[in-house]
Order: sequence, then C-alpha cells, then structure tokens
Amino acid sequence: MKDPDYGFSLSNLDTSVSPCTNFYQYAVGGWLKQNPVPASESKWGSFSILNNENLTKLKLILEETSAKQQKKGSDEQLVGDMYKSAIDSNFVNELGISPLENYIRKIEALSTTDEILLILAEMRKLGSGFLFGYYVGQDEKNSEKYITTIYQGGLGLPDREFYFPQDERGNTILTEYKSHIKQLFLLIGKPDTEAEKSAKFVQEIEIQLAQQSMDRVALRDPEKTYNLQTIKELNQLAPNINWNIFIESAGLKGVSEVVVGQPQFLVNVSKMLKAVSIEKWKAYITFHLVNDFSPYLSLPFEKAHFNFYDKTLSGKKEMKPRWKRSLEIINSTLGETMGKLYVQKHFSESSKKRIAEMVENLREIYKERILQLDWMSDSTKQQALAKLEKFNKKIGYPDTWKDYSNIEISNNTLLQNVMNCRQWQYQEMVTRIGKPVDKNEWLMNPQTINAYYSPNMNEIVFPAAILQPPFFNPDADDAINYGGIGAVIGHEFTHGFDDQGAKFDGNGNMHNWWSDADKTKFKERTEVLVKQFNEYQPLENVFVNGELTLGENMADLGGLLLAYYALEKSMKTKNHTKINDFTYQQRFFLGWAQVWHANIKDEAMGQMVKTDSHSPSEYRVNGPLSNLPEFINAWGCNENNAMVRKEKVKIW
Ligand SMILES: [Zn+2]
Repeated sequence: MKDPDYGFSLSNLDTSVSPCTNFYQYAVGGWLKQNPVPASESKWGSFSILNNENLTKLKLILEETSAKQQKKGSDEQLVGDMYKSAIDSNFVNELGISPLENYIRKIEALSTTDEILLILAEMRKLGSGFLFGYYVGQDEKNSEKYITTIYQGGLGLPDREFYFPQDERGNTILTEYKSHIKQLFLLIGKPDTEAEKSAKFVQEIEIQLAQQSMDRVALRDPEKTYNLQTIKELNQLAPNINWNIFIESAGLKGVSEVVVGQPQFLVNVSKMLKAVSIEKWKAYITFHLVNDFSPYLSLPFEKAHFNFYDKTLSGKKEMKPRWKRSLEIINSTLGETMGKLYVQKHFSESSKKRIAEMVENLREIYKERILQLDWMSDSTKQQALAKLEKFNKKIGYPDTWKDYSNIEISNNTLLQNVMNCRQWQYQEMVTRIGKPVDKNEWLMNPQTINAYYSPNMNEIVFPAAILQPPFFNPDADDAINYGGIGAVIGHEFTHGFDDQGAKFDGNGNMHNWWSDADKTKFKERTEVLVKQFNEYQPLENVFVNGELTLGENMADLGGLLLAYYALEKSMKTKNHTKINDFTYQQRFFLGWAQVWHANIKDEAMGQMVKTDSHSPSEYRVNGPLSNLPEFINAWGCNENNAMVRKEKVKIW
C-alpha cells in the first residue's frame, strides 16, 4: 500500500512557529503535542514507538511457536520456554528470594579479601558484579587479537556524579538510593537496624569508589583508557588484589598482560581492600547481588527495582505489562535467537539491497568531500581516504548465527534460565583468548532499533529493525529516506572520523595517522561545536555537556551533509515536483526532524544530560541544522534568524 502521507504527515507540523526560528518546533511541534509520554515510559519518540511495535511482533511469534511442541535446543524451544518462565508470575513469586539464598550464604561466610575476589569472579560469570569489571574483547591496538580489559565499576547509581550532588534533585536521588538499598535488605529478611546499618556501609564504599572513578568525558578517550600492564606490573600497581587468584578463578588462564582502563581506580580498590572491614564488604556485595537480580525475582523485588531505577531516576509512572518485560528479558539473554525468528518474518532482502546502495552512495560523497577539504593536508587526506575505503558494512542480521542450542532453558525457573544464558556468554567470551577475532560477530540484535560504528572493526552496522519508517520507508521519496536512514548512515560513517574515532586507522587499530598541524586544525573546529552545545539548556540550570556529546554531535553534523549531497546527486536524474508544497530539499530536513521527535520526562532528561553521549532530540535537530548553509537556503532563512548561527562549524 502506498503511504498517503508520502513519508511525512502534515499533522507533525506546528505552523505557528517559523522554520527559521525553531525548526524542531516547526517540523514536529504538532506531533509533540499529540504524543505525550505514556505512563510506563520515560521517553516517547521514534525509537520507543518502534520498539513497542516490535515487542508486539515478537509476542505473536512466540504465541505461534509455543502452540506446538518444540524440539529441545531448537530456537523455538529456547525462546518459548524462556518466555513461559518469565510470564509465569505465580511461580516467580512463590520462589521469592530462594534462588539467591545459596549465594547470600556464601557472601555471609566471607572472611578474607582473597575470598572477595573468588566471589567477584563467580558473580561476573552470572553477569552480575561489584568493585571492578572485566571483559575479553578486541585489542584496540591490535584488532586481530583478543585481550582482557579491566575497568572501573561497582556503583549502583548510573554515574560517579550522582554521589556528589550539586542541587536539590541530586540530594533527593541520593537519599532515595539509600532507602532503596535498605529496602532490599529488609526484603531479604534483615531487621530494620541491620538494614539501616548495611545501607550506610554500601553507600560509604560506593562514595569511595566514585571518588576515584574517571568521569564520562575522560572515559570517551581511548588513549586515556588503554594502559597495558603485565601481571607483574598489576601486582605492583594494586598489591592487595591477589591477581593470581583472580585470573585463575575468572578462567583467564594463560593471560600474561591486560589493559587497565583506569589505573588510579585499581590503586584505590587495592587500598580499600585492606582498609575496609569484611563486615562492610559483605553488606556491599550482598546488595549488588540482590540489586542486579531483582528484575528476575518476586514482585516485591521487581517493584523495589522499578521504584528507584525507573520511577525516581527516569520518571516512569507505572511498570510495563509483564509480557513486555518478559520479552525484554529474552532480548537481553537470547537476543540473537529471537532476532533470527524476527527477521524470517519481518525483513525483506530488497530493503537490504537498497540500504547497501545508499551506503555506497554516501561513501562516494564522503570521498569527494575529503578531497575538497580546505583545512587538511594532502598526506592526511590520503590516510583518511584509505580508512574510508576499508569501512565494512553489515545490514539486517548476522551471516552466521550464534548457536545457543546447548543452553539449558526450562519453562519455569526464570532466574536460573537467565543465569544459564549469562554463564554461556561468559564461557564464550573467555574461550576467545588466543583465538582469531570473529569478524562476523554483531554487537546488536537484529530486532534492535539502532545502528552503530565499531572503531575496532572499522564497520558500520544497521540491524533489520531500523529499516522501517520513519527511518526507512519504501513508499516515501528519496528526500525523506536520505533525511532519515541516509543521515543515520552518514552519522555512523562520521563516527569513524569523530574526535575519538579518528584515532583509529582503517584496520581498526588505535594509531595516529594525522599530521600535527592537521590535528590542531581539526581540534580547533571541534571546539566550536563543544561551545555551541554547552549553551543548550534543556531544564532550568541544566546544560548539555558539549564535550561529552562531541562525538555524537560531529556525527550528526557530518552525517547530514553526506546524506544531503547523496540526495542532490540522486535528484539530478529525477523530477523535482513539490510534495505537499515542500521542495525535496525541505523534505530532507523534515525527514531528519521526524526521526528525532520525542517527548521526555524531566527526570529522564536530568539523567540523560549526565550520562548519555547523545544530545537531547531538539538539539540533534536544531544544533547541526543551524550550522548548514544548505538548510538556510532550503528554507530561505536570513542571518538574523535563530536557526542561522553566526560562527558556523564545518568539519567534514
Ligand atoms: Zn552515534
């Protein structure tokens, strides 16, 4: 069926505002008014709407498969039984805390710091954790091999900043967090005074960890977080951590060197292991165990988790229905298997072909633009082009699927099912050590509405689920599609050349390919963008962090330009009749705004600004567009309009 709106509904518009004053409000103000955030959500926009629609599609798939007896270990049995175990609230409620009792007893029996490390590895295998984290992944300086990375962790709040509140809202969150910790101790049967004391211990420890944690701006810098250490050096750096015990119990046998993300953090952990009493550690570890698994325990635990993390922190008013929560559990445990069934029903090879063509069109435009840059030397240009040439693309779903068939999934014990999946994932992760890098791997599920760039793989990836309206609409004109998925493709391409991505070469290795002079000019340009975004104020006295969001803002700005010129090229051979009285250039920008229309709760906005490297939606539209002469021409704006910045940023 043809789309009667041609991919952009006029009801999105708010024509009381001029596109040259506030384009976001003009383009989607009507939509914002008609689409308040539902009670069970913290944000409502293209991503959450498509995600909800997808959950309905997945539910139908599961209902079909569960009507029949399925072979043990088959995709249908795995996801079908996981769903049954999650949806059966009676059984989960009956079990209460009992699935965790074994672990709680183990923690209560702790008496040495070495035993703390043993339990750390045991919990990590279950996908839970405390104190610090670790994983086996691609080596950032040698993308052909895997390496173990140890990184800061152990906090129950989303970021270190939350432990040092600057305002009333911050104080409230910290107080509520303490009540939440206490609540979990009460739920596992501790008397009030003990629960109160334990909550105090947990907060004490976390504040010390937070003090020595890197902030999010520093965490974005791969040069700062890459510190190669031999085991001997680790022993000197953090002597109170028994590294031999840790490596042995984590199953990292044969590992002789690791990357330490934040050395200062480990120095601190080492000191704390000696200084903090075992009694306090026990409280801290118990809390993290129960907190991490609360979403899979009986309703009182699930509710406590919701009340703090979803309500207090994100502004949700009510829990999603159980079937949606159950599907989200499947997506996070058996995601690829669910995705396999999803693409069989909901993905067309013709979409894949069209997106592949668009990717190549944008690559061509990027090449032309790099060659024309007036600020970059020829030698650096050659390096940039060499990298561009090597970008790999993945579209839709993986060529080879992970084989989960030997994971034990029963139709009743939800928590055990979740643990079995996580243990499988852990095992898969550690057995990679010493093996060649699996270049077929996907870091996102096909049913996820998103896309990514991996600097280490030097590849851009577009899961099946993002190839639907408003991102990609087979019934819409090129303008809407280049403004939507085209700019998203451009966004991912540009990540390879954003302030951090540009530190990696075409083979995915962190290695400088820039001349010093070009690097300086690049930095000068990015600083203007930092300044621009620092000025945006989504809530009273709450400002966007221009440094934290720099990579994403660069990707939006660069991505829009690539997509715009790819559209111009494609329009050379097409007729230029207006649609709904808009030129194709105007529709391109409307397409971009439509992708980002979103309402968000104040609570979620407050958290987003502190933790998310993406800018809030409004600025993802107005921010880059107000830098573009192409936008100004399309809408006939002039230098005095708010949508026309005096100092315009042009990087790529
Ligand atoms: Zn991005």
